[in-house]
Amino acid sequence: MSPTVFIPEPISSKGIELLKSKVDIVAPWLENKEWSEEESRSLLNSSNAVIVRLFKVGKEDIDRSSDLRVIAKHGVGVDNIDLQAAAERQIPVVYTPTANSNAVAEHTIALMMALARKIGPAAETVRQGRFSERIQFQGVELAGKTLGVIGLGRIGKRVAEIASKGLGMRVVAYDPFVQLVEGDEDIVVAGRVEKVLGESDFLSLHVPLTAETKHLINGKTIELLKTDCRILNTSRGAIIDERVLVKALQEGGIAGAALDVFEEEPIPTDHLLCTAPNILLTPHISSSTKESLDRMAVDAAQGVLDVLEGRPSRYPYPMEKLS
Ligand code: NAD
Repeated sequence: MSPTVFIPEPISSKGIELLKSKVDIVAPWLENKEWSEEESRSLLNSSNAVIVRLFKVGKEDIDRSSDLRVIAKHGVGVDNIDLQAAAERQIPVVYTPTANSNAVAEHTIALMMALARKIGPAAETVRQGRFSERIQFQGVELAGKTLGVIGLGRIGKRVAEIASKGLGMRVVAYDPFVQLVEGDEDIVVAGRVEKVLGESDFLSLHVPLTAETKHLINGKTIELLKTDCRILNTSRGAIIDERVLVKALQEGGIAGAALDVFEEEPIPTDHLLCTAPNILLTPHISSSTKESLDRMAVDAAQGVLDVLEGRPSRYPYPMEKLS
């Protein structure tokens, strides 16, 4: 009997093609069916593998899924998977760390440019026949400004590279595990996060969500930002204390924010962020390019096949990060 792979959320057909002759795919969306949360949980419990995007795999799911042999993350942020519970059951977790870095970096740069030039509200005035209000849309230039990058991993490095090499920005970055970006002397790696916070005209967050990084931007750290600083977050919503951010935007403590990720997703429509001034919100689409979605689906599918067929997988999630 072929192993069963549960895929609760849509992935690119490239991943499905790779899997379909080798496993039984259980994917309600492929049949245009709407399945309840309860039905999804029960399908997970009877599967041998699961490929998730934002679908949560908690300890209870892992404990109940006695035949589960591999969990694949279609993406890089594994905070929706209980890694500790997977490690206890010795269920390998595979992920797609290189597939979406460029897409997320480019979306971050797009948000930075849109904030600097007020593209969102300016476009809306044209659509609403208020062209003559153009006078209010004075922007700022990026060349010569300082971009602060927190987290110099795959995405943070790419953002820093585009900003310094392509846009003429000065980049100052903080990452406790990176001391130097080889080959790019324009990127200054600071020894203290406070230096980055204090110098940034734009501040971009690229850290994983962990107990240590939760609310990295909080009531204390936001005070260190310049009042004309604009914050970009394409990492995870909970890196920022959203109540603190809203207050700073309302009171002019910072000049703007662009967010692709939220503490609660989907963000409730009556959330204070939706009416805060100088804010640009996108619905967690940083990695949603055709190229990146194809790569994530193929890498996640390949990771599942590798484990099911007894080969070492190319991208096992480094469980040593747990300790
Ligand atoms: P990565 O692992 O390559 O880089 C993360 C970096 O953060 C590492 O270099 C690490 O040393 C650093 N770091 C850890 N703790 C830190 C701290 N306290 N202060 C400063 N730096 C710290 O990961 P990546 O591929 O660059 O992705 C970064 C994050 O972006 C992911 O964890 C994920 O949550 C998020 N992400 C979001 C989307 C999206 O669609 N919006 C897509 C992909 C990734």
